[in-house]
Amino acid sequence: MTLKIAPTDIISAEIVFKDYVTFKENKVYLTEDVPEHIAEFFKEIMPDFILIIYEMFNPICPYCGAKLHRHEIKDWEINKKTIVYKQRYKCTNKSCSKTVTTDLPDIVDKHCNYTKDIKKIGNELEDLEHISYEKKAEIIEKRHGVKIPRQTVQYHESINSEQYLSKKEEKITQILKERNIEFSGIIGYDESFFFINGEKYVRTTSIDSQNHMILNDQIMKAEDFDKYFIEIFMTYSLKDLTAYSNPNIPNPKHPLLLGDLKKDTMVTDGYTAYVPIIEKLNMTHQKCVFHKIMNQRTPVWKTTNKLERQLKSKEDKLEKTIKKIQQLENLSKGQKPGRIPLKDKKRRKNKNKLKKKKQEKTQLKNDIKKIKKQLDEFEYYNNKISEIFDYDTVKDAEREFNRLYNQLDFLPEEVGKFVKNLKKDFDKTINHIRRKDIPKTNNLLEGFFKITFPKKYKRIFRTEKGVKNYLRHMRIRWYERNVLHEKITI
Ligand SMILES: [Zn+2]
Repeated sequence: MTLKIAPTDIISAEIVFKDYVTFKENKVYLTEDVPEHIAEFFKEIMPDFILIIYEMFNPICPYCGAKLHRHEIKDWEINKKTIVYKQRYKCTNKSCSKTVTTDLPDIVDKHCNYTKDIKKIGNELEDLEHISYEKKAEIIEKRHGVKIPRQTVQYHESINSEQYLSKKEEKITQILKERNIEFSGIIGYDESFFFINGEKYVRTTSIDSQNHMILNDQIMKAEDFDKYFIEIFMTYSLKDLTAYSNPNIPNPKHPLLLGDLKKDTMVTDGYTAYVPIIEKLNMTHQKCVFHKIMNQRTPVWKTTNKLERQLKSKEDKLEKTIKKIQQLENLSKGQKPGRIPLKDKKRRKNKNKLKKKKQEKTQLKNDIKKIKKQLDEFEYYNNKISEIFDYDTVKDAEREFNRLYNQLDFLPEEVGKFVKNLKKDFDKTINHIRRKDIPKTNNLLEGFFKITFPKKYKRIFRTEKGVKNYLRHMRIRWYERNVLHEKITI
């Protein structure tokens, strides 16, 4: 069998060896562009007496511009693990005669023991999931064979995170602009609670329900959170802040003087404080149907759970009664029918017992039938109510709602109360039928909170800064996965 080698392989190998790698006696010279893993690879495959040396691609004195001469070599330990060397030079210009060491700015920062690739890992992992520095250090050791103290991982992450995050954020803004993705004006809003050092905090978020862009995402202490804050938050989320990012335009005198983004519909759960705010904002209000239905089901479930327990106990009892009846009937088998002699007390007793058990059986069967009927009725109304929100036209939805409303006095109490309440904001729960671009539920926000701040993290952060940093990573991830559908690289 002959192996075919693709011509591109030969070409690339040739280029690498010709321009970036030179073999000379017991030395392998690499230019400063060669990534450190190539140096580590040579070190790995070469015998120990071969020295791997980084040299300048163009050895010119940075002080005077004269040619540099090879002078001596200086050892450099890549990630405190692999020893290679850096070429030192002396300037040929007698009046300068400075010593210059090969600099590797693409690979490692000055005065740093660890390469940029290693330093980046903490922030990169944080993009995926919030994990401890200890675990990060473990991953770095397992994956890269580099032993690194967790404090160093923490330090690297913190000094690089601002730049790392802002670069990615800028890239996102740029891609959004290039792709002409704009706010649709249909917005989901919700709150979610968490803790920092045991203190309760709230996160308020609004997201474009069409393209899933985040309009606003803030955290604050729960004690400072009230309906006035919600109003400010909703109002400012809809302001066009580009004036602030344009240095050619003076900042507006007051943020309220900023222009509005597209305003159309706000989707929320049923909290009553939202209603006047959204009216003031002059927007359509869609109340989440999922929350509505949950509001209806909760009291119903309380009742149906009770009924189901009763049903179970009656059914068990019935089974026992049926068994008992069989036993008693077996006892009287083979006996002559007709009147039982007075003196046969035992037989009389059994007969009475049998009679009583048979009455009990009838009673239990009736009770079970009644409970089942009640449960069926609840199920029927549950389905009826869900169906209202599934109709294709407002006319159909209204007709079905009115049908229920007109039977108010005949409905089970729990259902009647809900239907009566629904009358008040029925209009605000069927906007998704009126317009297909309005979502039926606020599930997008529920999902956003679940993905970007899972329950397991809700009590582990110790500082506001920590949460804010974590959320920036998660927002980038949200944009990558749910808005741009592409990985952001910097
Ligand atoms: Zn010089």
